[in-house]
Amino acid sequence: MKHVVGAIEAGGTKFNCAVVTEQREVLAEARIATTTPEQTLREARAFFESSFHALSALGISCFGPIDLDISSPTYGYITETPKSGWRNTDVIGAFKQMDIPVAFDTDVNGAAFGEHKFGAAQDLHTFAYYTIGTGIGGGGMFAGQLLHGLTHPEMGHVFLPQRDDDRSFEGICPYHAGCLEGLASGPALQKRWGTTAENLPEDHPAWDLEAHYIALALVNTICTISPQRIILGGGVMSQGVLFPLVRQKVLSLLNGYIHHPTLVQEMNSFIVPPALENRSAIFGAAAMALTSTDCDKRFL
Ligand code: ADP
Ligand code: ZN
Repeated sequence: MKHVVGAIEAGGTKFNCAVVTEQREVLAEARIATTTPEQTLREARAFFESSFHALSALGISCFGPIDLDISSPTYGYITETPKSGWRNTDVIGAFKQMDIPVAFDTDVNGAAFGEHKFGAAQDLHTFAYYTIGTGIGGGGMFAGQLLHGLTHPEMGHVFLPQRDDDRSFEGICPYHAGCLEGLASGPALQKRWGTTAENLPEDHPAWDLEAHYIALALVNTICTISPQRIILGGGVMSQGVLFPLVRQKVLSLLNGYIHHPTLVQEMNSFIVPPALENRSAIFGAAAMALTSTDCDKRFL
């Protein structure tokens, strides 16, 4: 039977909603502004209900933090988000009336799953996906399973040693002095250099420092989960000089310690952009929904 599923990329500024087939055809799509939870979730549900397709399941790649503990009374909620009005929002509950399985995960795990099914991480069992944009988030898979634990990873909030020439910068994370997001997100670049990231020319010293912080985080991830590949997405990575700089700095920080031919000869295919460009999370949500139609109980 040909499955048709609903997919949502739930972000802090917009909810992208799509009706998608098993063959990754998009039958309908809508962009809904993220306003109040009531209005946004109601409009999203109305879009699916009016789509004239019988949906087998719904997948949601959601901004967070979120509750992924299936035994928790707040499973499927956005929990402690700083996003105004969205704290303790029951996201899954808003779609209960549709009476279909709902797959739910972080936006970055959703994007990672999209890349695993259709993009740059096909055939890999262990990889990391980062988005470097307004915030920094990370997800991925370990031994064939999306990364989950007590809750979900918060790879944007790892602590990094601040470079000597950047010691006076306070960072922008309200929770931590010196975490990756605080030092290297788009708003951190803007605060440090006084102009938006897209306005910084490619020969600006901002990019060497940015690549240094990203590389430090990647080396920590390489040493922790030994990923077969690392995918870097998000608006900040649109700056073309970053990929070569990050690859070079990762190699230099590793300093020859990890012996694998990939890390020396295939760096260009080890640290890569998402193959689905900015569609990873929405296609990942569709892929999660398709997986849930195969009776993956985690999602029911
Ligand atoms: P979000 O994280 O909000 O979903 P994006 O991934 O598009 O959105 O990231 C937005 C951030 O990316 C902003 O801080 C912006 O300044 C930065 N950005 C957008 N385009 C570029 C560019 N070409 N070069 C560097 N930074 C960029
Ligand atoms: Zn932080």
